[in-house]
Amino acid sequence: MATTSCDVAIVGAGLGGCFLAMLLRRRGQNVVVIEQGPSIPSAGADFLKPPGLRVLARHGLADLVGRHGLRRDHIRYYHDGDPIQDCRFPDGGFLIRPYRELVELIYTCCAVEGVEFWFGAEIGDIAVGEGGVEELTLADGRRLRAGAVVGADGTRSLVRQALGIEQVTLPYERLIMRVATVPLTESAARLNRLYFSSDGWLAYFYPLGAEQTRVFVGLPPERDEEIFQDGIPALVDELKKFVSESSDAFDSLQTAAWQRIKVSAMRVAAYHRGNAALLGSAAFACHPMTGMGMSYTLRDAEILADVICAAGGDPVLLDRLMHERYEPRGNAHRRLIDYGDALAATFHDRDAYLAAFREDLHTRGEAAEPALQLI
Ligand SMILES: Cc1cc2nc3c(=O)[nH]c(=O)nc-3n(C[C@H](O)[C@H](O)[C@H](O)COP(=O)(O)OP(=O)(O)OC[C@H]3O[C@@H](n4cnc5c(N)ncnc54)[C@H](O)[C@@H]3O)c2cc1C
Repeated sequence: MATTSCDVAIVGAGLGGCFLAMLLRRRGQNVVVIEQGPSIPSAGADFLKPPGLRVLARHGLADLVGRHGLRRDHIRYYHDGDPIQDCRFPDGGFLIRPYRELVELIYTCCAVEGVEFWFGAEIGDIAVGEGGVEELTLADGRRLRAGAVVGADGTRSLVRQALGIEQVTLPYERLIMRVATVPLTESAARLNRLYFSSDGWLAYFYPLGAEQTRVFVGLPPERDEEIFQDGIPALVDELKKFVSESSDAFDSLQTAAWQRIKVSAMRVAAYHRGNAALLGSAAFACHPMTGMGMSYTLRDAEILADVICAAGGDPVLLDRLMHERYEPRGNAHRRLIDYGDALAATFHDRDAYLAAFREDLHTRGEAAEPALQLI
């Protein structure tokens, strides 16, 4: 079967992969995106915070993403039912929009710009040499050679494995997350409310569009089977102990379909090797309560696009620029992961939680870190 050549091959058509593909294509690069699924991914985050919105605005996407999303600028936190603090977001706040809709918008831009997508594509082999990835072979025999290769292929990244980059995944063992979508309630329409309890539970209620409420429940793992397999009524009894101002959602929680989500922190030993780099969940994972994964991923994609274009197809220069300009992203990621870990460790303890909480990291992300000047 014939070998296809391109400037950049991206594995994974999630937010990171699609956004990078769009940026590169706009700057004249020939880009092929390989996605194992039949289309872009359907499940993912709902909150795009101000730093991510600013990245999209820099590339003319602010109106497009904002048009159908819901803007909020305020989250109220509770502990054992008492309101303990309000977090307010400057500059128009954050956007609530289901992940698939967000990725679909960027995917549509990619398609208009002429990015080539190979959906339903299973990778059979990734040939790696001294200079990074030499060739990708699909299970159906197709081959792809590219000047640069980006693994935007999620937490179990095959590109990362092929490059031999070590990773450490640490599941949040004290917390199982469940999520459900129920009809919109008045309390959620008014305010995003996030509850913690001394027993190590959490519950988050927020509106999704004009008709639905999304509910996240986090609970100690030893309670999960009893609550979610033996009978949901016990869930409402537990929530009544610490959820004080969202009880209008309780009835619909009984019949909701609860999906289980594993949450882990992940750190990697390197962000690139030769001509190949890792992006998004292939490169890092932090606690979802930071709400910043997408924002950092969008900024990373901007830097990667700059680096790849500046290298102009020279593999030695590409390796050097990746080293100088992309590897340092690890510092920002580490700070975010550490922050998520600190929050997760204090959910049960009001004072410790308030001491760990950093409003600037929730609202401004890495821009709050003086050491982190954007390049
Ligand atoms: C529960 C939870 C809640 C979160 N909430 C927020 C939030 O509110 N705000 C926020 O900013 N961030 C949040 N995040 C983080 C955010 O979801 C990620 O930062 C973001 O989705 C990363 O995008 P991505 O493109 O790397 O990954 P993904 O969306 O995971 O995309 C990876 C793609 O690669 C494909 N793929 C995988 N393997 C292969 C392969 N071998 N070949 C081809 N394709 C492959 C997959 O099918 C998928 O399409 C949350 C994360 C979790 C777990």
